[in-house]
Parts: sequence; C-alpha cells; structure tokens
Amino acid sequence: MATADTIAAIATAPGRGAIGLLRISGPIALEVATSIAGSLPPPRQAGLRTFRDRDGAAIDQGLVLVFPAPRSYTGEHLVELQGHGGVVLLQLLLEAAIAAGARMARPGEFSERAFLNGRLDLAQAEAVGDLIDAASRQAVVAAQRSLEGAFSERVTALADELMALRAWVEGALDFSDEDVDWLADDGLRTRLANWSDSLDALIAQVGQGRRLREGLVVAIVGQPNVGKSTLLNRLAGVEAAIVSDQPGTTRDTLREHLVLEGMPITIVDTAGLRETDDRIEQEGIRRSWSAVDKAELVLYLVDDRHDEHPQDLELLARLPVDRPRIVVRNKCDLADRSAQRLDAASTGIRLSAATGEGIGLLTTAIREFAGLGAADQQGSSFTARTRHVLALAETRRHLEVAMRSLAASSAAELIAEELRLAHAALGEITGQVTSEDLLGRIFASFCIGK
Ligand code: GDP
Ligand code: ZN
Repeated sequence: MATADTIAAIATAPGRGAIGLLRISGPIALEVATSIAGSLPPPRQAGLRTFRDRDGAAIDQGLVLVFPAPRSYTGEHLVELQGHGGVVLLQLLLEAAIAAGARMARPGEFSERAFLNGRLDLAQAEAVGDLIDAASRQAVVAAQRSLEGAFSERVTALADELMALRAWVEGALDFSDEDVDWLADDGLRTRLANWSDSLDALIAQVGQGRRLREGLVVAIVGQPNVGKSTLLNRLAGVEAAIVSDQPGTTRDTLREHLVLEGMPITIVDTAGLRETDDRIEQEGIRRSWSAVDKAELVLYLVDDRHDEHPQDLELLARLPVDRPRIVVRNKCDLADRSAQRLDAASTGIRLSAATGEGIGLLTTAIREFAGLGAADQQGSSFTARTRHVLALAETRRHLEVAMRSLAASSAAELIAEELRLAHAALGEITGQVTSEDLLGRIFASFCIGK
C-alpha cells in the first residue's frame, strides 16, 4: 500500500541521553535526510556526517543509516540519524526534517506502516509493543517469539485448515438436493472435531500469553486477623499493607503489582469479610467482594491453629462457584505440629506469612495455576492480548454452532455461514480482516518513533 507522505520522529526516549535517534520514513525520506546530513552513505552502511539545522548551522555530528524500500522496517525508504541525545538538539533535527517536507509521526506510525506494507502482520506488530512494555524476562522472551511469528504461524495454519473445511461445505451447496448425504459423511465431522481440538490448544496457550503480558489478578480473602495483609507484604517484599492485631484494620482493598518468579501479578488484599455494624468497614467489605469478582484466583486464608470456622465454609460458599481458589493455612509457625489434623480441615497449603516458611509452595501453586509451571520456563509461550483471546472465543462460538448444525443435519448454508464467521474472527488476529478503527486503537498505544 503506497503512503503519500514522509514521517519523522525522535525514536529515543524523551530526555537527555548518550545517543538520540531521528527516524524518517516515506517516499522523500532520502531527500529529507540529505538536507540534514549533506550526503548519504551507501545503503545499510554507517556514515559519519555533520548534521545541520533548518538554517544551515552545524549542530551535531553523527551516524547516518539508509535503508531503501522495500528492505526496511516500514517497507518504505527509511533513514536513521544517530546523534547525541540532547533535548534541544533532537528537536532542531526534527524541525529540520519537517522543514524539508516530512511531517511528525503519530505514535506507532512506523509499525503501522510496516503492517500496511506487509512487513509484519498485526499480531507481530503488537508484539513489538509488547516487547517494549514487557515487565519480566519471560514476557520479553514471549514477545520476541510472537514477533518472530510463532503465534501468527499457528493462527495462519488454523485459518488455512478452516479454509479447506469451508471449501468442503461450500461444495455441498452445489449439490443442494443432496446436502444431507454429502455432509453426513463422517470425514467432515472428524475434521471439524480435530480442528476444534487444535483451536482449544491455541486458546489455552494464548491464555498463558495474555497473563504474561497483562498479569494475573489474585485476591486474598478470609476472616479478619488471619494474616491477609501479612501475606501480601510477604509476597510483595515490602510493608505495603497495614498489619495489626486489631481485627478489621484493612478497611479498603489494597493492590500490589509485583513480578512473582517472572510472572506479573496484581494481588488484592481485602478487608476481612465478616458481619459488622461499622459503616466504613461495611464499605470495605463491599469492595472486597467486588475485588473477588474481578480476581482470576482467590487465595482463601484460614488460621492453621483453628478448625474450619462455620463462617469460613459460609464465605467459601459465597465465592462465585467457578472461581478457582487455593486454601492457605497461615500461621503454621504457631500451630502445634504434634497435633496436626489429618481430617478434611487440614487440606490446603500450610505456611507462615510471618516467617516465610512454606511461601515457595504457594508461589509454585500460583505459577501452576497460571499455566506457567516449570516446563513453560523454556519459553514455549508467546505474548497475546485480550483482543486475541476474544477473537479466538468468537471463533469458537461460531465453530460450535457449525458443529451443532452439522449434527442436526441442518442446511449446508447455515454451516457454511458459521464457518465463514469463524474464519473472519480468526483473521482479525493477524489482520487479514481489520477495520481502520481497530488499527487506530492498536497503534495509538505505541510510543512515538516506533
Ligand atoms: P488480616 O486482618 O487478615 O490482614 O491480618 P494481618 O495480616 O493484619 O495479621 C493479623 C496478626 O496476625 C498480626 O499481628 C500479624 O503479625 C499476625 N500474623 C500474620 N501472619 C502470621 C504468621 O504466619 N505467624 C504469626 N505468628 N503471626 C502472624
Ligand atoms: Zn489486613
């Protein structure tokens, strides 16, 4: 896709730095760069040049790198001017580029052009943003895998297989009197079922990828004084929550963002969930329930010294039924070891938030829950976004309708239409099917100059 104008942006982080980078891309990028650097070195070879501002004053000396179209990041003529990282200096270089006919780039516009020119698909372009924003080593490795195309390849392979299945069903439309017989063939049913399994495998992997990027939300819930705030502090390694031996101290929900063995998580400490007449405490409890509602995993704390309270059973029963939970038996340092109970009440992870004993068991359990057990540390995952998770869920919904229609021997038209919709939802991930609105939203979250 040809783009008419030439864009320029300071690509290094704002502020002073040893190096500052001005990036120019578009049809007249070489001319714009020539007006600043005087002359250009051969393609892909660094050349030392004096940079001049729009009035011709020499303002810096630096390296020039030229990448002619189409072998550049954007697929257009692209030039990088590497000078010193002075704030005013870079601003003068940018102004010189604009005076020579470039315009200022919008955030993410270089990557958007790379996408529009077919240098990256949409999932890869998003991975560029994920790589820059990655909050842990694992997230970096996963983003790099997506950028290399590991995720896109899986999506494309699924889309290709679906295309073949659609051709099969649409073939049946040409024999309209015999659709039922045609589609009753077990072959189609089996292939759809296999395709559905591959889709599920990808959905599971994408769920992990999204957690790497967006983190896992965990709520700590339990009766007052069982050690919820102490556990949050232990996991966060800081004195973030107010700990006291006065029941009901945590009146509001507190959140901590932390990286637990490579995985970003948000932990929410909730006010003790108990009956109370105190209005402020009631509000805290209301917020606790709403935090529980948003959490993907609940850590339910009990005091290891006590038998399960009837209130605990009541509270556990009030959690949304399908909400995964881990029962944590805290204060094991105080519990009488010789009297360790072997009944149902002794299930759960036994630890001491105060001394740190047993904390490793909990972090391992959380990682396993997130699908990031030891096996995944090899870097088999890739980053994914909520957008991808939703597109895959949409694909799955249409697939299910198609499979049900097939089982009910419905008209081939219905099945064909659902498969077409499934295909379209899948195509949104790599950008084969996109709206301008979606592109705008994705690239606006990028940094300027990327
Ligand atoms: P919360 O109301 O559930 O948030 O409980 P806190 O974290 O405020 O803790 C209540 C009291 O129990 C404080 O005095 C803590 O120091 C104490 N505590 C918490 N965890 C442990 C533990 O594992 N062992 C011991 N001995 N005391 C703990
Ligand atoms: Zn607390």
